[in-house]
Amino acid sequence: MRKTILTVLVFSLAFLFSSCLKENKPARVEKKQIDFGLVIHGGAGNITPENLPEDMQKQYKEKLKEALMTGYNVLKNNGSALDAVEKVINVLENSPLFNAGKGAVMTDIGTCELDASIMDGKTLNAGAVAGVKHVKNPITAARKVMEFSPHVLLGGEGADKFAEEVGLKPVPNNYFYTKRRLEQYKKYLERKRKKSASVSKSKFKKFGTVGCAALDKSGNLAAGTSTGGISFKKFGRIGDSPIIGAGTYANNNTCAISCTGQGEYFIRNVVAYDISALMAYKKLSLKQAAQKVIMKKLVEQKAEGGMIGIDKYGNIVSVFNTPGMFRAYVTDKGKPVVKMFKE
Ligand code: ASP
Repeated sequence: MRKTILTVLVFSLAFLFSSCLKENKPARVEKKQIDFGLVIHGGAGNITPENLPEDMQKQYKEKLKEALMTGYNVLKNNGSALDAVEKVINVLENSPLFNAGKGAVMTDIGTCELDASIMDGKTLNAGAVAGVKHVKNPITAARKVMEFSPHVLLGGEGADKFAEEVGLKPVPNNYFYTKRRLEQYKKYLERKRKKSASVSKSKFKKFGTVGCAALDKSGNLAAGTSTGGISFKKFGRIGDSPIIGAGTYANNNTCAISCTGQGEYFIRNVVAYDISALMAYKKLSLKQAAQKVIMKKLVEQKAEGGMIGIDKYGNIVSVFNTPGMFRAYVTDKGKPVVKMFKE
């Protein structure tokens, strides 16, 4: 009898002790840390001080900052995360520095074909366009698809036509051309003539896709991505940027994400959604989830690229497995941070 009482006592004490230990664990901070914030990228790739002359670094920094502060002002003035994402991406699309809108890369037949998507974390509504040739700001067309059509993704001619119908003035395809891209295309044709051009096997050197993820004062998240795709892609090729869950994802329960990199891998690995799902089901932090997908899963597959994201508490993350990624963030404190190389 005495033995039984003693055993019960020992087990009760052990149970009490382990409960105390659990309670003493630092509690995870699960509350909105900032009033609002946003993070942007201008593409991942071979971005190193050696590859990017100082005057170019300056140009990229200035444009990233301008885009970032455009979004900051939207959010500061009680604008929505969706508005911030669209306006930020518009600035980057209108700049010839990036592979989105003006300055987009060319296909194998010398055309520009653009992809973009946007997602609202509050409603899980989303809109996207793929392979458009006459839309000046594809992210705006993507938003129109979300708001004025029953669909999520429109492609090619139908998407161009839809954009025009909802009031976006079409531009000729050569609006997107820049001297730099035309020179690159000329070189590509020369290499092809010498039969040395290999697009699919070439190392991922190109960069310039743009994206944004934002958290507004109401606690709503949104994300968007816009791109010209991969240089000299087969015409008609569609990447991850207009694919919800691959290049873009937003969910108020977890985070908002925009990705950049070799689109085919991002589609196959459903990268943006995978990160969100790891947070939802495995309770990983945004940083842990992003590291797992970008630095482990993708690296194991030799896939290059990166992501930027913000979670529902305002934690901002950027992860990439390439030498560099153009990126910037700002919170309600109003202090912009712009980076491009590994740190
Ligand atoms: N992800 C884009 C695509 O595959 C390219 C990039 O991010 O640079 O179309």
